[in-house]
Amino acid sequence: MNKIHPEESNLSPRPIRQEQEPASEEITEIAKGIYRLQLPVSMPGLGHVNCYALEDKKGFSLVDPGLPGKDSWNSLEARLDDLGTNFKHVHTAIVTHSHVDHYGGVHRLRDDYDVEVLTHSSFSSVFGTDDIMEDPDAASLDLANDEDIEKLREMLSRPTPWGTKREPPSVEELRKWSGSNTGADSKSFQVPKPSLTVEDSEELEIAGRTWLALHLPGHTHDHLCLYDPIDGFFFSGDHVLPTITPHIGGMGNMEDPLAVFFNSLERTKEFSKVSLVLPAHGHPFNNLVERANDIIQHHVDRLQLIRETGDSIGEASVDDYMKHLFKERSWGDMAASETYAHLEHLRILGEVLPEEKQGVKTYKFA
Ligand SMILES: [Zn+2]
Repeated sequence: MNKIHPEESNLSPRPIRQEQEPASEEITEIAKGIYRLQLPVSMPGLGHVNCYALEDKKGFSLVDPGLPGKDSWNSLEARLDDLGTNFKHVHTAIVTHSHVDHYGGVHRLRDDYDVEVLTHSSFSSVFGTDDIMEDPDAASLDLANDEDIEKLREMLSRPTPWGTKREPPSVEELRKWSGSNTGADSKSFQVPKPSLTVEDSEELEIAGRTWLALHLPGHTHDHLCLYDPIDGFFFSGDHVLPTITPHIGGMGNMEDPLAVFFNSLERTKEFSKVSLVLPAHGHPFNNLVERANDIIQHHVDRLQLIRETGDSIGEASVDDYMKHLFKERSWGDMAASETYAHLEHLRILGEVLPEEKQGVKTYKFA
C-alpha cells in the first residue's frame, strides 16, 4: 500500500534542510533588541548564515557578520537599513569561530568602521602560522589574474595528514568567493586578529544583558557560544545546528577533535534551562539537550559503522573508508577529513592500528 514506485522515489528530490535555505530578507525580532538577519552563503550544504544584531544605547553588536565579498556586504547593508540603522552604528563584531562564513565580514567592518572584534582567546587560523592565507604572498595575489589564481590553487592543495593531496577549490569557486565580481580579495579570507578576547565562563555585557562566554570546541578549536541565563538565550554558532551535524574534521590542530566535541556536547547538556537556541545556520529552536544527544548518537553510530566496515574491508586507507561511509555525492575532502577524525578517535582508543603504505595512512582493526 505504502510502497513507493522506484521511478517516483528517484524523482522525489531530497528534502531541503533548514541550513540550506537561501537567505531570506525577512528580519526576525527574537526578543527586545535581538534580531536575526540572514546573509547569503553558497557553500556545500549551506544557503545562508544567521547574523544576529544586538542593539544597545551605543548602537549594534553583530554576531557572525558573514562571508567576505559584495553579496554578503550588500545584504548586511540592506538588513541594517531595514532596522533603521547603518554600518556607522555597528561598534562590535562577535565571531563564534574561525570559519570564513562567520568572520569574512569583519575585515571591512574594521577597516571602514573601526569596530571591535570579539572572540574566544584561542581564536586563530586552524593551520596556525602555516596557514597559506596567513602567508604575506597570498594577500598580494590578484584573484582576477589567471596566473595568480593558479598560484593560490597550488597553495591550497596542501597535503592532508593522512597522506593524500587536497583538491583545491575550482577556479570558478575561487572567483565566485573572491574574484572581482564579489569584491573580496584574498586578504578577506585571512582569520582576523581579535581586539577583545574572552575566556570560558567569563561574563560579558552585551545589549543590556549579561552573557556567559562558553568555550565549546570540537567543530573548531576556538568555538565560542554565548548564554544568557536570565532569559535562556543561547548563541550556538555551528556547535549545535538544528538539522545537520556540524562538520568534525581531521585537518585541524586538535589531536582528537571528536573526543573534544563529545566533551563539549556533554557539557552543553548541562544548560537544560536554555529556552531558545540561536544557531548560525537554520532556524532558532528550543530543544538544546535533545539536539546535543542526537548529535552524540550520530557519531556513536558512525563509529560503530566504521568498526563494521573495518571488519569487512580489512586494512584500508581513509579514502577507502570514506567511500563505504558516505554516499558518492558527498565524496571529497570534507568527507575524508571527517572519516579521518573518526578513525583517529578509534586509534587513540586503541581499537585500530595505523599503518602506512607509500606515504598514505591505512587503518586495521586489532
Ligand atoms: Zn558556519
